[in-house]
Amino acid sequence: MSETSSLAHLSVSADGELTRRTHTEQPHAYRSPFARDNARVLHARAFRRLAGKTQVFTQAPGSKPGDHFRSRLTHTLEVAQIARTLATSLGLNVDLTETLALVHDIGHPPFGHAGEKALDHTLKPFGLSFDHNLHALRIVTWFEERYPAFRGLNLTLGVREGIIKHSRNYAPDDHPELAEYFLDLRPPLEAQLIDLADEIAYLTADIEDGIDSGIIEIDAVHAGVPLFRGFHSEAQSRFPNATPRVLAGEATRRMLNALVTDLLTHVRHRIQAEGILTLEAIRHAPNRLATFSPAMEAERMTAKRFLYANLYNSSDMEAIHAEAAKVIEELFAWFITNPDLLPEDHRAQVPAEGLARTVTDYIAGMTDSFIEQTWARLAL
Ligand code: MG
Repeated sequence: MSETSSLAHLSVSADGELTRRTHTEQPHAYRSPFARDNARVLHARAFRRLAGKTQVFTQAPGSKPGDHFRSRLTHTLEVAQIARTLATSLGLNVDLTETLALVHDIGHPPFGHAGEKALDHTLKPFGLSFDHNLHALRIVTWFEERYPAFRGLNLTLGVREGIIKHSRNYAPDDHPELAEYFLDLRPPLEAQLIDLADEIAYLTADIEDGIDSGIIEIDAVHAGVPLFRGFHSEAQSRFPNATPRVLAGEATRRMLNALVTDLLTHVRHRIQAEGILTLEAIRHAPNRLATFSPAMEAERMTAKRFLYANLYNSSDMEAIHAEAAKVIEELFAWFITNPDLLPEDHRAQVPAEGLARTVTDYIAGMTDSFIEQTWARLAL
């Protein structure tokens, strides 16, 4: 199988079972069901709120100004770009892949992973937990209200399955409510690729933003991330007059390209080596087939460990994380004791969902600035 051979025979069909919607709709005259889902996600309120949500940080710690760090929205668009390249090159369903990329972070609360951790921690005493994939499903099946005929976006089964399963598996016994999503089967390649497109996007972008913010030094990345070092050294000798920032950017750009190329090559290799001929075979394979080569996987892990040690868990970020946890925990406790102050549409959910879940739904939907304002207004 050559580096450009098509896997179109493994692609999700634009008129098959995965195009089924909960509420039946007439087919569109000239747009595929997945192209329609793409538009529905893009036009959703929760999608627009990604602009106001932290990816890693929206402002550098300390006083260094910066207005070009990734938000969850621009991160999402970068994942969509990478996912589109992957799907196009492999001959898979591009509309479905891109939709899954656009929707992949829609369930994230404010304040990035610190916010997610804080919400999950706050829910523990209630015997509940917070999971951004499950929350994303709640958004698209219920909270979005745009259509008079139904609640939610009425997305196709293929998109809803991908929302749940792109980044992890859920045990059928633990999640009877997800029975519709073939939990005992692997997702199609279109969904499997999203998690890796996400990894490629944030590994490279976070190195760039980490350097730009001043939290990590170029020399430290050079020393600690071999994949970066190779491309950086090459760029340094080839472009001796380029600025350090441009050279670091060139190195991350080439890293991104190397990760994408490796993934494309390795997916094709595995499909051939494991004799996968149909989408059914992908679904029944013992493991996911979209993976990096072992050598690139080791590079990826080294880069990821570097980012955890030097950026995500750095002392610079600690204060930001602590502040995020404080705002979320205090606001949560405040709404638990004052449920009458929840917006009316959320209050209506309490009998069915319980108060703790309802408060979580409300907080998870907030942007960083909205939660800060709400918290300040309540003078906690
Ligand atoms: Mg992401």
